[in-house]
Amino acid sequence: MREELQVYIDGVYYPKSQAKISVYDHGLLYGDGVFEGIRAYNGIVFKLKEHISRLYRSAHALMLKIPLTEDEMTQAVLETLRKNKLRDAYIRLVVTRGVGDLGLDPRKCPKPSVIIITDTISIMSNEAKEKGISTVITWIRRHPVDTTTHEIKSLNYLNSILAKMEATTYGCDEAIGLDKTGLAAEGVGENLFIVRDDIVITPPNSTGALAGITAKLATEFIKNLGYDVSEANVTPFQLFTADEVFFTGTAAEVVPIREVNKRQIGNGKPGPITKKLMTAFEKATSNPEFGVIIYP
Ligand code: PMP
Repeated sequence: MREELQVYIDGVYYPKSQAKISVYDHGLLYGDGVFEGIRAYNGIVFKLKEHISRLYRSAHALMLKIPLTEDEMTQAVLETLRKNKLRDAYIRLVVTRGVGDLGLDPRKCPKPSVIIITDTISIMSNEAKEKGISTVITWIRRHPVDTTTHEIKSLNYLNSILAKMEATTYGCDEAIGLDKTGLAAEGVGENLFIVRDDIVITPPNSTGALAGITAKLATEFIKNLGYDVSEANVTPFQLFTADEVFFTGTAAEVVPIREVNKRQIGNGKPGPITKKLMTAFEKATSNPEFGVIIYP
């Protein structure tokens, strides 16, 4: 039997079943903290530098001082993967505000906690990749930029959870969130792209969408494939009538969307640009140029 996975908490490794934090941690009490979801493919941590720097940007916005330098954090992630002898993994990096009292005031939390979970991954099914997924535009608007914006990858994901619950309740795979003006923003944990007449569009971060690391790379690949890609408003009508729609994200990678609120997208099958992008992305995941090697 495989040894129990080890979880890093504040510099100490605990077996998964013993890896616990205080019930007074404001991460639990108030969702006060930040996180990243990262993947390792065949011994390479994909886009590790970008994920670490986004974690620190999120923390900066929350005035949360992470007790490690970015370099120390990188080494801690690699060490945790090595300790668990993992080559293909999902990495969950969490920094909580730490233990405080039962009030809201973060000044009562002197020591943020760093948690690194490395585990095996449950990947998107082949069926989803081959046939595309169904989505529903949810009534739960994404948090606007002047509230608890999704630009900050904070532990407050209730908006996404409610949207995901709505999608599954109505028999759909995923949800698409609109901003408060009714424009498409993103998925619950994915960025959104549409294609119309060979032009690719993705909603801007002003909708409150997270600046996705996969989306940024996808944008580069789309340009390299010779297509026009830009950030612009996407209305629900433009979604329904697009030739192609797809999501990007660390967990989802690039996944075609075949249906939005029961409207078939294109001919109901993954479109040519989506397919080319999926191939380019798959190649990139095994390219050391795009990540950090775990076992040099
Ligand atoms: N939007 C949200 C709200 C997310 O949680 C994620 C997943 N991190 C994404 C988009 C996709 O971002 P990335 O490609 O960096 O994983």
